[in-house]
Amino acid sequence: MILGTPLSASATRLLMLGAGELGKEVLIAAQRLGVETVAVDRYADAPAMQVAHRSHVLDMTDPEAILAIVKRERPHFVVPEIEAIATSALAAIEALGLATVVPSARAVRLTMDREGIRRLAAEELGLPTSPYRFAGTLAELEEAAIMLGFPCVIKPVMSSSGKGQSIVRGATELALAWQEAQTAGRVGSQRIIVEGFVDFDFEITLLTVRSAFGTTFCAPIGHRQEAGDYVESWQPQPMGEAALRQAEKMAELVTDNLGGRGLYGVEFFVRGEDVIFSELSPRPHDTGLVTLASQRQSEFDLHLRAILGLPIDPGFRRPAASAVIRGKDLGWGPEYSGLEEALAVPESDLRLFGKPTASKLRRLGVGIAGADAVEEARKRARRVAAAIIISPVS
Ligand code: AMP
Repeated sequence: MILGTPLSASATRLLMLGAGELGKEVLIAAQRLGVETVAVDRYADAPAMQVAHRSHVLDMTDPEAILAIVKRERPHFVVPEIEAIATSALAAIEALGLATVVPSARAVRLTMDREGIRRLAAEELGLPTSPYRFAGTLAELEEAAIMLGFPCVIKPVMSSSGKGQSIVRGATELALAWQEAQTAGRVGSQRIIVEGFVDFDFEITLLTVRSAFGTTFCAPIGHRQEAGDYVESWQPQPMGEAALRQAEKMAELVTDNLGGRGLYGVEFFVRGEDVIFSELSPRPHDTGLVTLASQRQSEFDLHLRAILGLPIDPGFRRPAASAVIRGKDLGWGPEYSGLEEALAVPESDLRLFGKPTASKLRRLGVGIAGADAVEEARKRARRVAAAIIISPVS
């Protein structure tokens, strides 16, 4: 691999589609190696735009708009950071040989909605998953819920971070859950997945890196979700050797099928000896923010190095945890205080994403901390997050 000089004719250029907090960390990793970076999102001043050489605001569900920007910027790598992207444009970029799509256009297409990846994992690859049905109308949902029983989990196929997701405990709650899913998803009319509720002992994200040198795994990350959105994560999640090997085998099977180079976040539920595949991101995972403290190379460094074809080191360094800092309805340009208290926590670190607006429950930052043991790290990370006070601009 030869890297050029940014902003010169020799530059190695990386264009990020989606410019959130995870993309911001990937671009910081890229900046450190002198890669020229371009960030694209649907709103101005998004986190990754603030650390990129250039940025563009465009509708990423518009294939023409994506193709036009790729032709103009001529990146070597196009790196999707979110799901809501016109995947036909990614397929065209690959077919025309304009750039390498990370990890591959097919991987992004199959994971952009819950149906593609679930059908691949469960029906083609035979991985154990929760029982499920898809539904396009309330009547189909009612039929699916009767088949699966209660409680069941309802999610728009095109949504993430718990938007439009609900747990339904009885038939009388179905209409409301349907309504929730319709209004909260990414597009107007929502197809949904109905899943049997898995009463798991714990859930993990298994970061899986496909590099030029093969497939490697990071130590399992445990996490806690509230209303389908991550609030806390830690590494390592203690688990049995046999269950971990099973998860690794499944992660390898599904990421081999999706191909390409880069880091994948593969999510599993663990119940007793059983490991159940849940879903997968073909990119760094939000629960993996903990790796900023717990690993020699964070998930962002690993993604970047895998993309560039460089050697990687997913080695575990120290138990650590992350705790999310969420917004309230505070409008534009909120202020952050309490940093002195937050950063006085031993082995602590902090990321404030710099999002231009604070809205209710929006993830605005993350508290991170290391310790001798995971439990202590979790306490510390929560203390870091709790110390941050967000207020409207004074
Ligand atoms: P997802 O967006 O599919 O990752 O779901 C977000 C979170 O909701 C998961 O991390 C779980 O904590 C919970 N969840 C999702 N599906 C199920 C299920 N079938 N059974 C139990 N909990 C679930």
